[in-house]
Amino acid sequence: METNQHILFYSDALASFNYGSNHPFKPARAKVFYELLNRYSLIFEENQRIMVPQKLDETLLRLFHTAEYIRLLKLCNAGEFTINMLDFGIGSGDNPVVAGMLDFALDAAGATYEGAMMLAGGRAAVVFNPHGGFHHARSDFAEGFCYVNDIAIAITALIHQGKRVAYCDIDAHHGNGVQEAFYEDRRVLTISLHESGESLYPWGGFVDETGSGDGKGFNVNIPFHAGTDDAIYLAAFDAVVPPLISAFRPDILFIECGGDAHKDDPLAHLNLTSRSYETVLKALKSLCPRIMATGGGGYDVHKTAAVWALTWAALCGIKMTDAFAGLVGGMMYGPEARISSLEDAPFRISGPEEKQCRKEADRVVDYIKKEIFPIHGLGTDLKSVPE
Ligand SMILES: [Zn+2]
Repeated sequence: METNQHILFYSDALASFNYGSNHPFKPARAKVFYELLNRYSLIFEENQRIMVPQKLDETLLRLFHTAEYIRLLKLCNAGEFTINMLDFGIGSGDNPVVAGMLDFALDAAGATYEGAMMLAGGRAAVVFNPHGGFHHARSDFAEGFCYVNDIAIAITALIHQGKRVAYCDIDAHHGNGVQEAFYEDRRVLTISLHESGESLYPWGGFVDETGSGDGKGFNVNIPFHAGTDDAIYLAAFDAVVPPLISAFRPDILFIECGGDAHKDDPLAHLNLTSRSYETVLKALKSLCPRIMATGGGGYDVHKTAAVWALTWAALCGIKMTDAFAGLVGGMMYGPEARISSLEDAPFRISGPEEKQCRKEADRVVDYIKKEIFPIHGLGTDLKSVPE
């Protein structure tokens, strides 16, 4: 029987995990997000359900990760450091040895996996795991604050069940770990929209990385020039993403929803407002009846939480109302005091910066239409680059 269940995974314990006081990755974003859902009445619908993440069965790590890497993750979990861990990315500044790290990662990955299985089994229509989205983790290498690639594991399990999976990554950083996992596989359509690797880690994700072998044309990168705003981003998204996903006809659509493409993010350099997130999420929702969304990056805790609240509302198709409006004489209070509304004011770049960002986006879109669209049976009506 079909269901319209909307599942949110949330755990206070996971939101309390700490990478170290000077580390930019703050799992506490999830708690701020959760508080916003309550404040804006976004979690009280009859078909919405909150589930607590349960640990991924350790044997499932092998769907993506190597045995030696898993052995070292277990040592890391016990707070032990050995010098050879550095060959696997563990113990660096970005990916420190922290006691309990594997337990944290298994909880996060367990939620993404369980969500994917619920979608595959027809027990949910929308799942959001704000604790997941570790798209940089490689099969044998921790990087970009990611140790266990919850997305690669869950998608691998789904394709073993014969499902067609599309993946759309709107984090500011290229989804390199997920790209690597399915680079030669046409059962997964991988699309990453991100700031160009010329100005941002992981220094790749260029438009000509289109997959290889069987997977040729099933890996799509849409890199944006630093500074890109809503108008340029959304035009490129519209030109490329809906046609490709529609042609691919996925059973399940994964979305990595990092909040770091927001213009206030301290690590990345895109200029998106919440409008891009809302517009993109609504468009993606209309393209597939089964959605598995995860968190990801996002280093402005409050903006990331706000973007995720809007993401959740868009996925569930609900409007927000402010449960406390007027109760305290219009004064803002609490941890979200910086946010007068979840939605940002419009923002546009101009002058030479706008010209450069637009020119680069047009070049990328034209390349994809020329090189990738025909593989999916799509026309190639190229847009000429404007003056
Ligand atoms: Zn990121």
